[in-house]
Amino acid sequence: MNRNDDLHEKFVEYGCNAKKWMRKCVLLLPEIERRRIWKKKGFGSIYEYAAKLAGMSRYTVNEALRVLKKVEDKPDLQKVIEEKGINCVKPVVTIATPETQEFWADKARTMSKSEAETYTREWRKQDGLPGKPEKVKIEIELNPEIAQQLEKLKGSGDWNNLMKEFLEMREKQLEQEKPEKVETQSRHIPAKIEKYVIKRSRETCEYPGCRKPYEILHHTRRFALYKEHDPDKIFALCKGHERLFHQGLVEDEHKAPGFWRIREVPDKKDPKFKIDLKVMRFRSGFT
Ligand SMILES: [Zn+2]
Repeated sequence: MNRNDDLHEKFVEYGCNAKKWMRKCVLLLPEIERRRIWKKKGFGSIYEYAAKLAGMSRYTVNEALRVLKKVEDKPDLQKVIEEKGINCVKPVVTIATPETQEFWADKARTMSKSEAETYTREWRKQDGLPGKPEKVKIEIELNPEIAQQLEKLKGSGDWNNLMKEFLEMREKQLEQEKPEKVETQSRHIPAKIEKYVIKRSRETCEYPGCRKPYEILHHTRRFALYKEHDPDKIFALCKGHERLFHQGLVEDEHKAPGFWRIREVPDKKDPKFKIDLKVMRFRSGFT
């Protein structure tokens, strides 16, 4: 081992310990606040106490007290805080209940913060859909000429019919432009197919309701299993949603996006689960 490595190893070890001890400090805060220990020890506030004794910022103290209050009755989440810190449980803290805390603790433990955020967001959407509303109102900004032409086209008819007509036309056109699927040993998506998928997505994540720019093209039929690039089975996704797929947390992935649903746990019997594990392991080496 050369001297650089030695120095680096030391830093990693000390840093790791520093974080561990900071997590321990954080967990003591609610009790210190409850018993007003800071006052008894001559400090002006808990912030002064935490800053002078542990180098904690005001923000850290506030966040710790807020989050720890919410997990008072959730020992599994408390354990995750002890292991991984407060930040990891933030995405799940408002959705977990004493009955479901075990499930959410597992998610907070195994997912990164942004993965957990995406997952809880989808969960909420799914949960909060007791039936879709019949009609929704949207506001769009148009040039006056275009607005006028559209009004004319609609005439005395319904906006829904006109818009549906446009959508069907777009779909038909995309269908005509769609390249054939390619069977190959090469993982590289052929340029034609890539271009088509990006055009279809309009460079936006194709997960229903998501408006983030797309970052990754995802095979809903894993390439490793099928050795094909099928434009109907490749979707443009944002990173957050792509991660959910690779964690096996999207049900009916092989169907069209409208059918995708969030799962509680991955289906470990699905052959793609093994592939996804490999992908996740491979990636965790880099991120
Ligand atoms: Zn997305």
